[in-house]
Amino acid sequence: MKAIAIAGAGFAGAIMARELAESGKYRVTVFDERDHVAGNCHTVRDVATGVMLHQYGPHIFHTSREDVWQYVNRFARFGPYTNRVKAVTRRGVFSLPLNLLTLNQFFGKQMNPTEAQEFVSRLGDPSIREPRNFEEQALKMMGRELYATFFYGYTKKQWGVEPTELPASILQRLPMRFNYDDNYYNSKYQGIPVDGYTALVERILDHRNIRVRLNERFVPELKREFVHVFFSGPMDSFFEYRLGRLQYRTLVFERFEDKGDYQGNSVINYCDEDVPFTRISEHKHFAPWEQHEGTVCFREYSKLMAPGDLPYYPVRLAEDKALLKQYVALARDEKRVSFIGRLGTYRYLDMHVVIGETLDLARECLPRDPLRQGWPAFSADPSPVATPARSAA
Ligand SMILES: Cc1cc2nc3c(=O)[nH]c(=O)nc-3n(C[C@H](O)[C@H](O)[C@H](O)COP(=O)(O)OP(=O)(O)OC[C@H]3O[C@@H](n4cnc5c(N)ncnc54)[C@H](O)[C@@H]3O)c2cc1C
Repeated sequence: MKAIAIAGAGFAGAIMARELAESGKYRVTVFDERDHVAGNCHTVRDVATGVMLHQYGPHIFHTSREDVWQYVNRFARFGPYTNRVKAVTRRGVFSLPLNLLTLNQFFGKQMNPTEAQEFVSRLGDPSIREPRNFEEQALKMMGRELYATFFYGYTKKQWGVEPTELPASILQRLPMRFNYDDNYYNSKYQGIPVDGYTALVERILDHRNIRVRLNERFVPELKREFVHVFFSGPMDSFFEYRLGRLQYRTLVFERFEDKGDYQGNSVINYCDEDVPFTRISEHKHFAPWEQHEGTVCFREYSKLMAPGDLPYYPVRLAEDKALLKQYVALARDEKRVSFIGRLGTYRYLDMHVVIGETLDLARECLPRDPLRQGWPAFSADPSPVATPARSAA
């Protein structure tokens, strides 16, 4: 069996390991510099309260891809969960994404879907023809009042820049619904693994041809021991940041506890600029099938990543894209390494996208010999502009 190394035991690394191991042709060693598997999806049961905590921020699984849903259900039982987010603003508490309830309550009206659509189209600024940035796109779509209440402060806190510096494309994809559907996602399937994401990933990795080495950073010198490497760490870290650092936003979580039900919902966004955090998540609500007396919440703050911080959201502003192009060229020159997952391709990706792309890559690799035909440099092209996550309310 040929020896393969995988850097990172998140979804990308674990699934690639499993697919290769199951083929019977490869012996896989998975390295992770952390002391646990599952990467940023790691969950841990809180000793004091019994609540299942999403250690690196709330993770809700959703997908419309049949094979992805079947794949994760092979390794875990999913509890039913629908993400319904609320927004605290200086005008009151509203339902997200912006929907008919939000619009009727915000404007004190009783509009039906057609009336609401006409009403919102009249709010938009008709002088903006080709929006050049996020703010112009918002003003064109919904006018100043909705933009200022729901988007301006939140976006500025999340990205640390004026919304005029962000691309218009971010907002083009944000849903505004003209019905009462407040399900945050449009996906066919949605849920949360009842035993947590870490148990799910542990089961994926539980195969006789897979060896997991935790607390061990994969360094390029180790490459010579393996016929191929799948690297799911930050692309620039593989090259020891020799061209500079790709920028990320990082998150700071401030934990606090309470009794009973602190906020009555799993996620509440705080849209005003003068509230320093972006949202509060109350983790027991991610497992509505469980009962706990105590409750654990996290205030979430966003800031630019400094060396030593964890990379969360790729910034992908113009200077990052220029640097990315150079790293992509280096990566394509690198022999016997494939860059995979959200960090390996410097894109914000939801779990189902990472899983889908990794399964697709495995299907492409398995019929080919890594030494004779070679395997692709990336699980997906990192170059196209990806929409940053949580760019707005
Ligand atoms: C705050 C937040 C909330 C999110 N919420 C959702 C959500 O609700 N729904 C959803 O679908 N997605 C969500 N996501 C996205 C989700 O976290 C990612 O899709 C998923 O983590 C990607 O898996 P991955 O394997 O690519 O990366 P990761 O999970 O980041 O795993 C990469 C692993 O590589 C390890 N590593 C890095 N470098 C090295 C090295 N040199 N050697 C060894 N190990 C290394 C790291 O320690 C890490 O464990 C969220 C992301 C964030 C940041």
